[in-house]
Amino acid sequence: MAEYRCLNCGKVIPASELNLKAKCPYCSYKILVKVRPKIVKRVIAR
Ligand SMILES: [Zn+2]
Repeated sequence: MAEYRCLNCGKVIPASELNLKAKCPYCSYKILVKVRPKIVKRVIAR
């Protein structure tokens, strides 16, 4: 699931909590950046 981070207060809000409002529920700031989930790559060392 996608997560968004508020550029003002830095809180991370899951997309499900935003409910299509592109607004931070904590501070009402309107600029949110998408947070990429950390993908752990498996590297096989030979
Ligand atoms: Zn905020």
